[in-house]
Amino acid sequence: MILDQDISVPPDLKFSSLRAGIQSTENYSRWLGNRYQGSMSYLSKEERVIKINDTSLLAEGSKSMIVFLLNYKKHTISREGYGKIASYASFKDYHKFFPDIIDEFMIKNELFLNGYKSYVDTGPILERGQARISSLGWVGKNSMLINQQLGSYTFIGVSISDLSLDSSFVPSPDLCGTCTRCIDSCPTSAINKDRTIDSNLCISYHTIENRGAIPKLVSDRMGDMLFGCDICNDVCPWNRQTKESSIPQVQDDVFSNKMKLEDIAFLDKESFDLNYKGSAIKRATFEGFARNALIALHNTGRDEIVKESSKRFSDLRREQAALLLEKS
Ligand code: SF4
Ligand code: SF4
Repeated sequence: MILDQDISVPPDLKFSSLRAGIQSTENYSRWLGNRYQGSMSYLSKEERVIKINDTSLLAEGSKSMIVFLLNYKKHTISREGYGKIASYASFKDYHKFFPDIIDEFMIKNELFLNGYKSYVDTGPILERGQARISSLGWVGKNSMLINQQLGSYTFIGVSISDLSLDSSFVPSPDLCGTCTRCIDSCPTSAINKDRTIDSNLCISYHTIENRGAIPKLVSDRMGDMLFGCDICNDVCPWNRQTKESSIPQVQDDVFSNKMKLEDIAFLDKESFDLNYKGSAIKRATFEGFARNALIALHNTGRDEIVKESSKRFSDLRREQAALLLEKS
């Protein structure tokens, strides 16, 4: 069955399919070999790597993988004193609504025989690589999947189906050309020549995944960034002409400018859970989020709050404050 014929698709969604089976994962192995994964050790677990290499092992009887792109482009403005968050963190956590969109599509179009299994960032799958080989775009120099119509502000989801499906492939050319805007704009030079990111230098990694203090080399270049980093997406010319998402959950801005930096610096777990319930920001943990706020306060000349917070808390805040206030 050729999948992308006779199926009507909403404008914010794109999909394609490919046969489940052995994949080329050379770049991934090299990335792990260079230890660019930072502290995310689960990424190199043997069981995970085996499944990444052979996608037919992801579910019993799997024949095809359907790859989805969901447009989440939106304009968010950060107010002074609140810190910047990545645009995807301004609305409800996409892990909570994207799987429903995939389910609806799979069921409506009867794209399985006995069952299917879906993943949104949760499985041993190299989503960008799968999207690239299923012709949904190319992996740009910023390491993001770029689709000619949607740009790179997309979430990638995957469904493993027991139905044999193909797409009428039109391979996506690499349209980065001689552009190097993302590389030139990255504040920490985290973008490698082979289109991978060195997590040890990436602001997005540190503000979300790092559970320790953020090294000065990175924190000095964070400005008032509080959660994630959109710079290498924002500067990409392929995002200039793309349309903003019409998905209601994406339009619903609930988390940007939620709390002032000076309040986050004194945040406890209870208020964090209350204020950021249902948000992707929860991934950072309350201590990590408060640590990020101290960095933003330091970088905007408000060390008196950094000092006060570090006096009051003996957690990660004190450790980060010591680094920030160290005389160089
Ligand atoms: S997310 Fe930010 S820090 Fe990370 S590679 Fe992109 S521009 Fe650099
Ligand atoms: S900014 Fe330029 S080099 Fe970077 S991903 Fe976009 S087109 Fe490619």
